[in-house]
Amino acid sequence: MTRYLKFVFVLLISFVFLFGNSNGNSKYSLVLKGEFTQGSILFAEVNGVSQEAKGTVTFNNNEYDFENDKNTLFTSIPVGLPTKPGDYKVDVNIEENGNKYSFSRTISIKSKSYGTQQLWMSEDQLAKYDNPQADRDNDAILEALKSDVEDIEWESQFIKPVQGRTSTGYGLRRYYNDDPEPEFHKGIDIASWNGYNVVAPQNAIVVMAKENLILHGTVIVLDHGRGVGSLYLHLGSISVKEGQYVKQGQVIGTIGSSGASTGPHLHWATYSHGVPVNPWQLFAVPSSWIK
Ligand SMILES: [Zn+2]
Repeated sequence: MTRYLKFVFVLLISFVFLFGNSNGNSKYSLVLKGEFTQGSILFAEVNGVSQEAKGTVTFNNNEYDFENDKNTLFTSIPVGLPTKPGDYKVDVNIEENGNKYSFSRTISIKSKSYGTQQLWMSEDQLAKYDNPQADRDNDAILEALKSDVEDIEWESQFIKPVQGRTSTGYGLRRYYNDDPEPEFHKGIDIASWNGYNVVAPQNAIVVMAKENLILHGTVIVLDHGRGVGSLYLHLGSISVKEGQYVKQGQVIGTIGSSGASTGPHLHWATYSHGVPVNPWQLFAVPSSWIK
């Protein structure tokens, strides 16, 4: 009897080991590169799949579609700034020639501090932010940032859209007046001069090009593929059209101070599936992401 129980026990353990762990029923595995910290972008890959393979990856209750490019599944995954530090399961589902593969791995997200700032605003300034048109503009921008264009090749690492000093960093927690809830600064502010050229930091499709929004002024949104987008606020002018393909280094507009801006600068933000991520990390993407 005890021997029988031992046998069952060993069988059970083997079962858990074979089917309960990360690559249980799959010949594939998930490669994740990047910094496992709050506010980061992760670069997800599944290598060696067939041309027909498609799939999704789920992290922190959000599901993202993979893009199949030359037998590799690619997508980016955002770790939002407010993500709680701790362990998270990343689940992958792949469909290929009628077969389904599911597997997961656990990653540990660490906290990261980007600094804090206290700001005092007048009632007039605050009223601008409460304008319902500002909410509609924000919705339209977010919608554009969720655009999911495929098959855009990355020539090289991202480049800065304009040279200049960073006047406000990414991820800064800003406390307004006595509101205990901070607003994260979702991009970087680059101080510059009126009329200076702003260039595409990477090949992209222009998904939004709009002038004179109440808060953000003249705005461009680019889609770089694989879930990665970028946003340009307070521009002086626009020299591209919605739907247009732009190459890395191509002029898309000029520096200005449109909307709620106090001087010529560019607010530049990068996104993964509509979630703001650390722009500096796009200057060091994995080499497998560059053609
Ligand atoms: Zn800004």
